[in-house]
Amino acid sequence: MDFRLTPAQEEFGKGFTAWLEKNLPENWDTSRHNTFDSWEKEAEAHRRFNKRLFDAGYAGMHYPKEYGGQGKTLMEEVIVLETLASTCFELKIAGIITFGMAVPTIFVCGTEEQKREFISKALDGSHIWCQGFSEPNAGSDVVNVSTRAVKENGHYIVNGQKIWTSFAHIADYCILLVRTDPKAPKHKGLSYLLMDMKLPGIDVRPITQITGASEFNEVFMEDVRVPAEMLVGREGDGWRIAITTLMFERAVGDAVMGGLFVRNIRNMIHMARHMKRSGRPIIQDPVFRQQLAQAYIDVKILKSHGYRALSQLLKGGLPGPEGSISKLLWSESNQRICERALNMQGPSSQLMRGSPWAIQDGMWQHLFLRSKGNTIEAGTSEIQRNIIGERVLGLPKDISRVSRQKEI
Ligand SMILES: Cc1cc2nc3c(=O)[nH]c(=O)nc-3n(C[C@H](O)[C@H](O)[C@H](O)COP(=O)(O)OP(=O)(O)OC[C@H]3O[C@@H](n4cnc5c(N)ncnc54)[C@H](O)[C@@H]3O)c2cc1C
Repeated sequence: MDFRLTPAQEEFGKGFTAWLEKNLPENWDTSRHNTFDSWEKEAEAHRRFNKRLFDAGYAGMHYPKEYGGQGKTLMEEVIVLETLASTCFELKIAGIITFGMAVPTIFVCGTEEQKREFISKALDGSHIWCQGFSEPNAGSDVVNVSTRAVKENGHYIVNGQKIWTSFAHIADYCILLVRTDPKAPKHKGLSYLLMDMKLPGIDVRPITQITGASEFNEVFMEDVRVPAEMLVGREGDGWRIAITTLMFERAVGDAVMGGLFVRNIRNMIHMARHMKRSGRPIIQDPVFRQQLAQAYIDVKILKSHGYRALSQLLKGGLPGPEGSISKLLWSESNQRICERALNMQGPSSQLMRGSPWAIQDGMWQHLFLRSKGNTIEAGTSEIQRNIIGERVLGLPKDISRVSRQKEI
């Protein structure tokens, strides 16, 4: 398999990098982790920057022109995403669910009206999406979703609670998994709705994470009236469509994360060159040198796996269970990289962002704490290994699941 770019793709990448240099927000520092004073400011920066990308023809490279895309291949999209991840990942964070899950799912499973209504508004930054799948009793076992939707006079009346809903506090729309038929077997009674987050009856309550930020929320819904045309697929199709969303969520990981980690490793090497331990620069310490080399290897594996998965998608396939390998690769290597960076800092690793003595503005402390969620969000590492075991290796089903399926 040849992972080299064609001359035309190289040219495209150079053109995009040149455009980016002139179009990043003022005072943006591409070498470090940039922060925003509030979620409102982050969402606003995200919307403004996506509008710029859209107007310049760099949004949704692989989507057809009639939906606001550029009609190119997924390769151009990956070139754009990798470049963004290695220069201004923070400007794209608020759109992770929008671009990684909502848009691809609507594109593959939505009606013609839904595609025309929503894809271009996501690409140009007008809409931010959140994902309402998890509930207090439905996480790994998302088939247990109990939020009810009852069809009545052209609307679904939704009642229930979601949890861990990232970006719900800034989102315009939600991809929502609901139970429409409680009498059907669990996975056949689910449906998939596109819910306007400004509808009456929605109450969003932020949850504070160990980083101190509130990136995710509880979402309560009481008699929320979602128009029936916001149903994706058919009633009872929700489980199949949710799996499609999760496959996309897992598959995009390594192409994008590879770009981000390259920047993080550059920062780590910079830190190792400038910090001293026992009078010697850390970069001369044999243990840290090994760790830096291992971090680089992790990123190389991640990128190679990403390109391999991408070549499958370019042949016209949908992401498959191999996406679970991507998810494990990026989430677990990110935790290792962050932990090594803190080890390098020694006792200074206890100084958080805001302390005048914090190394690299306390960026690693924040990334380390945030990375703890990586092996839980988008399906835990245990669940990914179960999927690989069952669906890639053909092992027998995991016993806890078999016993639960008997209940269904
Ligand atoms: C930062 C972050 C952001 C998130 N954002 C969103 C979001 O935007 N939208 C959304 O819908 N959800 C979101 N989630 C929720 C996430 O998808 C769930 O937390 C995850 O699926 C795990 O579910 P749970 O928390 O209920 O844990 P549980 O499913 O209760 O799992 C608890 C533990 O048991 C293990 N376990 C469970 N079943 C098995 C099994 N069969 N075999 C082996 N081990 C098992 C798990 O691996 C885990 O260690 C987010 C989570 C985090 C951390």
